[in-house]
Amino acid sequence: MTRLDAEIEKLSIPTPYAVGDVNVYVIKGEALTLVDAGSRTPEGKEVLVKSLRELGLLISDFDQIVLTHHHPDHAGGIDFFPEQATVFGHAYNQRWLELTEEFKETLDLFYLNIGKELDVSEEMIASMNNYRGSGRYISKRTVQSFLQEGDEIPGLSGFRVIETPGHAQSHISLYRESDGVMIGGDHLLDKISPNPILEPPISPNESRPEPLNQYNNSLRKWLELPISLTHSGHGRDISDTHALINHNLARQHGRAMQVKRMLEARPQTGFEICKQLFPRVYQREVGLTISETVGQLDYLEFLGEIKKEDQNGIYMYSVNS
Ligand SMILES: [Zn+2]
Repeated sequence: MTRLDAEIEKLSIPTPYAVGDVNVYVIKGEALTLVDAGSRTPEGKEVLVKSLRELGLLISDFDQIVLTHHHPDHAGGIDFFPEQATVFGHAYNQRWLELTEEFKETLDLFYLNIGKELDVSEEMIASMNNYRGSGRYISKRTVQSFLQEGDEIPGLSGFRVIETPGHAQSHISLYRESDGVMIGGDHLLDKISPNPILEPPISPNESRPEPLNQYNNSLRKWLELPISLTHSGHGRDISDTHALINHNLARQHGRAMQVKRMLEARPQTGFEICKQLFPRVYQREVGLTISETVGQLDYLEFLGEIKKEDQNGIYMYSVNS
């Protein structure tokens, strides 16, 4: 537990994921608010209860929870809170929290189609959908009150919702204009670069979101705000937010240029690029590494550096001459 300012307290909650602990924030506004709720594991609950007790608080004291996004390390813990604590979040959380059979089928089909376009091997396509096996970490509760760009959060005056899609379509951050404090979720992290993760479009007749291009736009949105301090979803607070954003944007551009050089050597499929970018982890983390690869390819296409050609359902990427 770290004391941040008069109204914001940071708690670190263990998760079952490689990322390690997740940060959740207690804000004593007019309503007692928790931003993100940690993971739905016995250890997650134990540490949450213990850390709250050190602040003289009980789970049952909370009026509301605000979700930065739907990922289970942030949202799973909403189940620990009684019904009277309202859950706020972007409307796009809902399909992931409800996780209906229909949505699971949509996900399977989405990953199958993307996998085929990129020429991912069949046995690996099956493991692209991380949500198939992670049901037990997903909350049973869902969002009760939707937030969108520009909203003030009831009971939390001074904070405004900034939509920051990219890492997740549901991602929002909370910005306090009076002192430039940002509660950033996974939009920007101190040590890790957040993966822009592929998700199906919100409506089936839309084309799929381009998560890295979206993510970069959302980072640029933060560049327009004077941010004094970012309280992030994992790891330490970020004091020079704009410098880190510029550093990350430049590093990502460099990585994309590396991909362009691979394609200068010869036209290739997305999966071939993925294997070269992540030779040691692509088999273990196929969903994440494919998301990252598609992100770089989308980015280069957006810049007009490369193009893709449909060859019997498989995309062949090459440089634009
Ligand atoms: Zn996340």
